[in-house]
Parts: sequence; C-alpha cells; structure tokens
Amino acid sequence: MNVFLNNSSNGKKMVDKVFKAAVAAKEAKAIHGDIVVDATLGTLFDEDGKFVALESVWTPYEEISKVSKAKYASSIQGNPDFRKAVYNWLFGDLNEIVDCEIIATPGGAGAISSTIKNVLNPGETILKPSQGWGPYKTMAHEFGVTLTDYNMFVDGHFDLIDFQNSLSKVMKDQGKVLVIINDPCHNPTGYTLKPEEWDQILAFINELSAYGPVIILNDIAYIDYSNQGSSWKQHFLKYNHLNENVMVVIAFSCSKTLTAYGARVGAQVIISKNKEQLSDFLDASIYSARSIWSTVNNSAMDLFTKIMSDDKLLQSYLTEKQYYVDLLRDRAQIFVSECAEVGLEIYPFKEGFFVTIKVQNNQEKEALNLTLQQNNIFTVEVDGGLRIAICSVPKRKLVGLAKRIKELM
Ligand code: PLP
Repeated sequence: MNVFLNNSSNGKKMVDKVFKAAVAAKEAKAIHGDIVVDATLGTLFDEDGKFVALESVWTPYEEISKVSKAKYASSIQGNPDFRKAVYNWLFGDLNEIVDCEIIATPGGAGAISSTIKNVLNPGETILKPSQGWGPYKTMAHEFGVTLTDYNMFVDGHFDLIDFQNSLSKVMKDQGKVLVIINDPCHNPTGYTLKPEEWDQILAFINELSAYGPVIILNDIAYIDYSNQGSSWKQHFLKYNHLNENVMVVIAFSCSKTLTAYGARVGAQVIISKNKEQLSDFLDASIYSARSIWSTVNNSAMDLFTKIMSDDKLLQSYLTEKQYYVDLLRDRAQIFVSECAEVGLEIYPFKEGFFVTIKVQNNQEKEALNLTLQQNNIFTVEVDGGLRIAICSVPKRKLVGLAKRIKELM
C-alpha cells in the first residue's frame, strides 16, 4: 500500500487532553449553564468567568501602526529592541550583567522545541519532571527523542536524590544531559523550588558537567505570576556561577506574561561561559527559526517593547497584572486550604495557575475524571493526577469544590 507520510510521521496523531477536556466542559455549559466548574484551560479568567485580555496590554496595542502589524520582523533572531526589552525584563534589576544571547521564538513552545531539536540526536533522552506540561512529550517525539522522568517530590519537597540519580544515569548512558526545569510556578503542580533546592541542583549540575555537557532548559512560562514578584528573578544570578560545560536555555513566553497567548511571542535566552558553544548555539537556533517558523510576530514584539520601555505603560501593566497575581493567590488559598480540611491529597503547591490532585493509579484517575465530569466538574488528566486550573475558576466556584471532589472519590 502507498504511504504518503515518511516513517517518522506516519502514525502521528495529536490528542490534546486540555483541549479535549475544554470541549467537554463547553458542551456541558451549553446544557447546564453556570453550575459547571470548568477548570480545564490554562488561561486567566476573571471572577465573572470572562477571558482576561489585560487592558494595559491590549489598549496600547491599538496604537501600534498597521505597518508594524503587517510587516515581517526586522531580523530572524528577533527585533533588536525586543531582545533588549526581554533582557531588561528578566535581568534589568540584577546588579550583575548576565552574558547571554537572545532569540525571539513563537512563544515558550517555540523556545522549548527548538532547544530539544538542536541539543539532542534522535534516539537520545531528555529529562523532564514526573509531573509536567504534556507538550514536552509531543515535542520530544517530534524529534525522535525519548523521555525519562525525574521524580518531583518526596515527603512534600523536591526529590533531589532522584534528580541526581536520574541525571547521572543519563550522563552515563549518553555523555550529555538536557533537563527541563519548569520553575517558578510549575505546571501542573504549582510548586516553586526553594532557593536552597536550586542551590543544590546547580551545585550538582556543576559537578556532573565534569562528565559531559549539561543543558538546563528553564521553562519560565509562569514567572510573572510568582507571589515573589520580580524578586524571583534574582535567581538568574546563579546562572553566572555555572561551569564552562553547562548551558542554560531560559524559555521565556509573553503568552501568560502579557495575556498574549495567541500573539505567539517568546524567546530563548541562552547563557554559558563557553563563548564558542554559545555562538554555535545561536547560529543553530537562528537556522532552525528560519527553517521552521521564519520570523516571529512583529507587532507582538513591538507591543512588548512598547510596554516595557514606557514608564507609564509599564506601571499600569504592573498594577493590573498584580491584581491577577493576588486573585490567583486568593483562589489558591480557598482551594488548597479546603483540600487540607477535607483530606484531599494534592501535590506540594506554592503559587501560580494550577493545583494538582494526586491520583497515581491511571485507572483510578480516569474513573475519577469521568465521575467528576458527570457531576459537572471538568479537570485535566496529567501524569499522576488531575489538574485544577485555578486561573480559570472564580472563587465562588472554588468554595466547597475540594469537599465535592473528595466525596466523589
Ligand atoms: N511551558 C508551560 C509549562 C506551559 O504551560 C506553556 C503554556 O501553556 C508553555 C510553556 C508555552 O506556552 P506558549 O507557547 O504559549 O508560550
């Protein structure tokens, strides 16, 4: 029989659990109305259930010229003033320079997939957290890369021992390590590593790099929703103290930062003491950009630059965003404290868009999800549990939710 697809693409089929669950929730809402709890989508919704498009972002967008909206970006690497704005947004408050290269990408997804593509050969292995964003798997499969997990938690904190063992094993097997660390505000658990946990991770990685190159892919998609505000960014200074044989790729995204999910803009921020490798990495990333997406949305880059470089716009953006950071904290407070009250087990949570209920057995997880759906509660199945997107559920619907779920278990 004739097959049109090549061997690696034949049989590929995208099953996106988030969108599937969201469609089911939408259908239920059409029938049952407001009683439906839709905790599926990882985008911000306000207390009236309306999608949040920040005024302080999308009103200034109106002032951006038609020409800017129509034009190609001025460079495949991304507009220079955009790259400068990303640098300042991430590192501007630090009292040291962070020597890096920046490449604009279509969202965090572009930054992550381009990194996987260029770092690992087909057949090699990437490390990801045991609870992690689903598309990491899709991206790895796309490039013929296999995945292995490091266990996220033991006794309510980060499982450093398993992290060390998992990375050591991969280093031993392939002489190189690429590890994804989604911090702060981890999706799907809402965990943020403690500074001392990061110190231990980085000390270990420095040691491990004696045996081969180590690339840390720090996915910071939710960085701007940390309760610590911009002070979390002090963490980046630690990357200045990594050995020559370590590279960090920060995957930055404007999707959540600006509520600009559809604008598809983000960046790879690459840090390494090894200047030759840094330059080669930059070249390879620009090449991949040209061959896969070509250039990034010009007016979205202009929008980010505009907000970040105008004090008045920046202040109003920060104020408006802070309202949602506080709202997320209040929502989390309701759900997480009620989980504790009723004994509904969740993964260690600190902050961010999501909380995950622990259900390790796959059959039990699927069964519970179905029961919840029959009771108009829509969540997303993730590795080891069910994800509740508190970013999209108003406080009034979170009150009593833990108890309802516990009773349905
Ligand atoms: N990383 C994580 C953990 C995410 O949850 C997301 C979005 O949902 C992304 C990265 C990237 O999103 P985007 O490509 O829209 O920037």
